[in-house]
Amino acid sequence: MIKVKNLCKEFDGLQVLNNISIEIKKSEVVVLIGASGSGKSTLLRCLNFLEIKNSGEIEINGQEVDLNKMDLNKVREEMGMVFQHFNLFPHMTVLANVIEAPVHIRKKSKQEAIEKAMELLNKVGLADKAHQYPEQLSGGQKQRVAIARALAMEPSVMLFDEPTSALDPELVGEVLETMKNLARDGMTMVIVTHEMGFAREVADRVIMIADGKIIEEGHPKDFFTDPKEERTRRFLQQVL
Ligand code: ADP
Ligand code: MG
Repeated sequence: MIKVKNLCKEFDGLQVLNNISIEIKKSEVVVLIGASGSGKSTLLRCLNFLEIKNSGEIEINGQEVDLNKMDLNKVREEMGMVFQHFNLFPHMTVLANVIEAPVHIRKKSKQEAIEKAMELLNKVGLADKAHQYPEQLSGGQKQRVAIARALAMEPSVMLFDEPTSALDPELVGEVLETMKNLARDGMTMVIVTHEMGFAREVADRVIMIADGKIIEEGHPKDFFTDPKEERTRRFLQQVL
């Protein structure tokens, strides 16, 4: 589904991603971990073309992405992104937030977009909040709306950048539960998170990033019980 080869990204001479290569299969759930500043967000942003790589290749659905030949917005539509701060439109109802992109970018009819949106809001357990405004919702509810909004574009991959880091502890579970359901439905997901219990339970693969490089990866069972790299061990001691 996604193939990344020798991806490099620098900011003002600082090498933030250094020869990253990853393959992500359909329906795979990959969790990225690593210390703050290690390049996790930059990697997700390069996958979503919010940042443009300096070198390397990104293939999506078997096709190399060449921004000289392809429409950036079309490529981005394949990638649903959920951020730490939900970025909902505050002046729009929950439903309006969810149908915004399908109607204005995908040019779906409003009726069709609303039907799909209600289905998704139902899926994240918020159908009853459709006509409320973001400020009337808890952080966990807002994040579930943000997930529904990303899904409304029918992406083939969902990227999550620390989706629960801004939430009060008692609201983390409902968002993780929503993500678990998505994984169960077969969604391909790349998730940056410090929720190791979630990673252990849901991830097919955990990837440890340090200084812009993949230093270790594995199935969560092996990864968490017997990490090979000293840096991984130290990191896990800090977050577990
Ligand atoms: P993480 O998400 O793992 O905490 P980031 O990908 O956000 O790490 O950042 C990796 C490094 O890149 C950091 O040193 C950060 O300061 C730097 N960086 C990220 N975005 C930018 C930017 N737009 N301009 C300059 N430096 C950046
Ligand atoms: Mg980050």
